[in-house]
Amino acid sequence: MSELPTTNDPRQGYPSASSMDRIAACPGSHQLITSLRSSSGGGMERARVQDEKGNIWTRRGTDIHAAFRELLLGQVPTYDSKVVEPARELVREVRTVVQVASSIFPIGAWHGEGSLLDAVGEEWMLTMETRLWATTPAGNRFSGQYDLALTNETRGLAVILDAKTGWANVEPAPSNLQLRTLLSLAHHAFGCTDALVAILQPAVAAPSQARYQPEDIEPALASIDAIVDGAYAGGALNPSLGACKYCPAKLHCDQLTLIHLMHSLRHIPADHAKALEQCELADLVSAEVRAEAKRQLAYDPASVPGWELRVSHRRAVPNTQAAYDALVNERGMSAQQFHACCKLGIGKAESTLASLLNLKVPEAKRALAAKLGDQLILTASEPSLVPINAAETDATPTTSD
Ligand code: SF4
Repeated sequence: MSELPTTNDPRQGYPSASSMDRIAACPGSHQLITSLRSSSGGGMERARVQDEKGNIWTRRGTDIHAAFRELLLGQVPTYDSKVVEPARELVREVRTVVQVASSIFPIGAWHGEGSLLDAVGEEWMLTMETRLWATTPAGNRFSGQYDLALTNETRGLAVILDAKTGWANVEPAPSNLQLRTLLSLAHHAFGCTDALVAILQPAVAAPSQARYQPEDIEPALASIDAIVDGAYAGGALNPSLGACKYCPAKLHCDQLTLIHLMHSLRHIPADHAKALEQCELADLVSAEVRAEAKRQLAYDPASVPGWELRVSHRRAVPNTQAAYDALVNERGMSAQQFHACCKLGIGKAESTLASLLNLKVPEAKRALAAKLGDQLILTASEPSLVPINAAETDATPTTSD
């Protein structure tokens, strides 16, 4: 356990469920991050926490999780519909998973109304956003936080759910290391020997579920232990898009410097797939360099000689009706001329239709397309290079671990 605890991060610098994929792909990353944390005196951690707090997607995820909690407990949600609707989608997915659980475990069915806790039965405990730790006599070893767990400690059973509010592709439940780590932690915590684990990601797909039966537990624990052992042993730094994307060390990692990447590129001109991955990695590094410079300039405008933070302004008319009154009613522009200057925001029209007709967004999309008919046209952009299976918008991950 060589990692120094840090004050702001509940993971305290130890390997965690959410970093298990990165550590498995790049075993050396944990030790590198540990040494950077020590040498930055907590500055690296503060910068990360500051970034996450200010991130609109993180705040959205946090609010959705809070509304999700209210709905699961049968409470009236205190958030607006933009937050409550995705939370309701998560609740629908919980109902689906609990239905599956009730076919394999002695757990009560739940129809999505009232408190989940009241429905599942007295033997079951409901906990949310709880961090578990695996410890040894020497101290903490690794941790993980689940979004929701139903546990029956008497029988060693658990239903463990991870709720994603973003659109990033995640590994399906059977091979998902975050879920496997949570299972391992549930085993450490109360001897869980049979569990249903699931990822809820309604923005992307139906729940992805996997069951770990008693015979699966030992191999699962061993695979997580091997990854954690690798983290503490150090080892090779192994850059890849999946590992580096959210790695907090990417600005400082020798394996990921632009020079290193450009050097690699020169030696693999014929391998376009590999070369493109290297380009994506180079983009990651340059984005991180820019983000770091912005952070520094925000704190100290003289910190990066020759550069400043400059806000550019674009003219906008947020109130189209007021503009219509001013130009058509008062200045003689015809309604036709006015509308020729305007563009319909399709996303906005869809969300307005969704709340007007009480539809889910995909239904509102279909309704809008049916209503507009030929008026809705598809325009093609210049083709862009997109890695297969990664075309979806990749939003910042949720607050959970
Ligand atoms: S930036 Fe990439 S290669 Fe470097 S430590 Fe992180 S995951 Fe490993």
